[in-house]
Amino acid sequence: MFEKTKKRVHYFGKTKSEGTKEMKELLGGKGANLAEMTSIGLPVPPGFTITTETCAEYNEGGGKLPDGLMKEVHNHMALVEQETGKRFGSEIDPLLMSVRSGAAVSMPGMMDTVLNLGLTDKAMEGLASSSGNRRFALDAYRRLINMFGDVVMGVDHENFEKEFDCLKAKYGASLDTELNEEGLQELVTIYKQVYLEHTGEEFPQDPYLQLEKSIEAVFKSWNIPRAIRYRQINEITGLLGTAVNVQTMVFGNMGEDSGTGVAFTRNPATGENKFYGEFLINAQGEDVVAGIRTPQPVEEMVSWRGDIYQQLLEVKDILENHYREMEDFEFTVERGQLYILQTRTGKRTGVAAVKIAVDMVMESRITEKEALLRVPANDLNQLLLPTFDLNTERDVVTKGLPASPGAAFGKLAFSADEVVDRVHAGETVLLVRKETSPEDVSGMHAAAGILTSTGGMTSHAAVVARGWGKCCVAGAGEIVINEAQRTITVNGRTFTDQDILSIDGTSGEVMAGEVPTQDPQLSGEFATLMEWADHYRELQVWTNADTPNDALRAREYGAEGIGLCRTEHMFFEGERIKDMREMILAKSQTERRAALDKLIPYQRVDFKGIFTAMQGLPVTVRLLDPPLHEFLPHEEHAQVELANRLSVPVERVKTRVVQLHEANPMLGHRGCRLSITYPEILTMQVTAITEAAIECLQEKIDARPEIMIPLVGTYKELQLLREKVEQTIAAVKEAKNYTAPLEIPIGTMIEIPRAALTADQIAEHADFFSFGTNDLTQMTFGYSRDDIASFLPDYLNQEILEKDPFQSLDTVGVGQLVKTAVSKGRGKEKQLKMGICGEHGGDPASIAFCHGVGLNYVSCSPFRVPIARLAASQAAVKNQKEIELLLDTSDEIKVKSTG
Ligand code: ADP
Ligand code: MG
Ligand code: MG
Repeated sequence: MFEKTKKRVHYFGKTKSEGTKEMKELLGGKGANLAEMTSIGLPVPPGFTITTETCAEYNEGGGKLPDGLMKEVHNHMALVEQETGKRFGSEIDPLLMSVRSGAAVSMPGMMDTVLNLGLTDKAMEGLASSSGNRRFALDAYRRLINMFGDVVMGVDHENFEKEFDCLKAKYGASLDTELNEEGLQELVTIYKQVYLEHTGEEFPQDPYLQLEKSIEAVFKSWNIPRAIRYRQINEITGLLGTAVNVQTMVFGNMGEDSGTGVAFTRNPATGENKFYGEFLINAQGEDVVAGIRTPQPVEEMVSWRGDIYQQLLEVKDILENHYREMEDFEFTVERGQLYILQTRTGKRTGVAAVKIAVDMVMESRITEKEALLRVPANDLNQLLLPTFDLNTERDVVTKGLPASPGAAFGKLAFSADEVVDRVHAGETVLLVRKETSPEDVSGMHAAAGILTSTGGMTSHAAVVARGWGKCCVAGAGEIVINEAQRTITVNGRTFTDQDILSIDGTSGEVMAGEVPTQDPQLSGEFATLMEWADHYRELQVWTNADTPNDALRAREYGAEGIGLCRTEHMFFEGERIKDMREMILAKSQTERRAALDKLIPYQRVDFKGIFTAMQGLPVTVRLLDPPLHEFLPHEEHAQVELANRLSVPVERVKTRVVQLHEANPMLGHRGCRLSITYPEILTMQVTAITEAAIECLQEKIDARPEIMIPLVGTYKELQLLREKVEQTIAAVKEAKNYTAPLEIPIGTMIEIPRAALTADQIAEHADFFSFGTNDLTQMTFGYSRDDIASFLPDYLNQEILEKDPFQSLDTVGVGQLVKTAVSKGRGKEKQLKMGICGEHGGDPASIAFCHGVGLNYVSCSPFRVPIARLAASQAAVKNQKEIELLLDTSDEIKVKSTG
């Protein structure tokens, strides 16, 4: 925050320029950069900026321009008149002004601009004679009446447009530009009439009244619903208001030696260091946006005005050298004279961001650290997933939610089992279901992509798919699935199990046929940036992976260990689920052991595969976590099948299902509580882990398992289970006669608030802590992760929550528990290894927090590993103050910094 200054108006022009690019908060981005460009000698039409503070004053004063403001405006207009040698509202060669909004953060098109201010009946005649072009002057006047009527007085643009169309018809003109002088003269008269009818006032003939009302309209526009909504959607908070820029008009529509355009100093889509832009001859800026005419590529200026193209290239270089950034700028040519009207940091794709950052280091414009900070970590996503070829026509049949990015196509399969069978037979299929459940995971994993007709961004399908980096479009509500006929219908079209659909997880589009894809590129600039990231970061980046394939992929992406290897998915595959169910149905410990013995070989193979894939790196295996209920069949036919297989009455299966049903399964019989009740499950798992490790080591594969006990709430649970784990390891070693060294660290998840609060006691029994921030968030807020969708939107809209706490760690509350656990744990055991393995491990803001709080590693899904590497490096090179602010939980109200 800055001090309140008295000065409300800042001039930019040849005589003086009272702003710099650093003054965005006070002058808005546009104003600060107009002043900056003026100072470095670029041809900017002179003008002045009214501060954002004045906007706040206006709003605080209940919508009244502060006293004395218009006097300051008059004084600054006098400077502009001096500099341009023209007079505002004059009947000879009049000075015209634009009024432009501009806040500290760019809000494209959110607040309106009024052009050609100062035109009155008299000044119009002046412009006609000074330009020697009466048609042009009339055109400028009708634009003013329309814009001023619309933006300032709230007269719907349609009212003007209607009249324009009538008149074009009358004069036989099909385009605006074809209406002749006589027609325009008539149009001006009609427009003034429209203005009078809708406002009850004559169109103001006092230029200063036009100016005053326009300034006020810009201030007012700060709080119109669409501006507020835009700020909400883009999480823009903490701004005072908008600045107002009052600037000398220049005209790109004064004839064939005039024009206007927009340019980027480099290609914003690819990042290629090549000037990129578009322009229109004889046009005003608004014509480009309105899409009435198609602009030409900027290179084609050569054949129009080579001299101006050269000047533009110079401007491009000056901007890049000065801002050391890729800039996006607006220019206008008035009768052969080039003017620059705006510059700002250019928006770019993830691909371009990486290329530009790396290229700029190579060109010695910026440092490696700056380059790291210039790529929004999440944007790497775009580089890591296959994408649809942009040059292919898309036959879009419907749209759902972009639940998990990527591009996939395949024939339609309607159940998980069908997917598995058809993939086995060599087909590429999409799993299409109303929704998915844990029983579907093997099919979901095998499918090329997942398409559901119900469910939101946090539905089972969406969460699981994102975890794997698998493409998913969820909640495509127009799709009707007809499982019996093995078809879907959507918007009157029918697709069978032999038809191919393509789904775009980034846009949510569902397309007919196979749209070709292209693979991500992990070399070149991307690899260079990652090298720098690894050099500067302090956090290690591990991954959450349950299969050798995922493990290998994560390694490719740079993972330095597995922080969470879930074991539950392993029980769903093929025959295993049957043995698992047999185990759950067992009536006695002996029966249960017998069933578990059948599971050991499966688990051993799984672990061996993962240890091999990760050889030389730690693999943290979490013992069984979900409630047993999730493994039982809930459909009648599956229950009958299970009963037959076990030769028991189906009633017994049903009874067990009912028995295991819990009112709050998330708070029920799960995690380490299972091992307390059924220690033989723990024994089975630990046996499989130890045997797999020994087999690996005997084959010279450097296996490094670690065992993680979930959902611990008191040290006694850990103490007891640790003992069992140690005994089991010792027993396996003995049985295998294995005497070489094999250390298996035993740690716990910190995911229950009580565990965080008593972390000192727990530390005495743990070799490591891993923060399970999904459960920790759930239990700290008391929000069920599976049910939050019903109220989260209201919480976000009413700003009770800033973000979904399951996506980005709540540093103030949940973060406090993490901080407490870190300090209590390290208080007992200085070197205690700590990491995080919740979804937050892949979220850049949460990663910055983990860095600040001193964790050793973050663990995230394989596809987020590069994002986490970059985010970790950004946390390390960011200024220390920002990180400290993130960690400061003492202050309840945090002012989010923007800019
Ligand atoms: P936005 O914030 O929506 O980009 P601008 O303030 O840049 O709005 O104004 C929109 C357009 O109006 C500009 O792109 C430019 O074409 C035109 N414009 C604004 N001010 C002037 C001016 N002083 N001279 C000529 N054209 C202008
Ligand atoms: Mg603009
Ligand atoms: Mg958990």
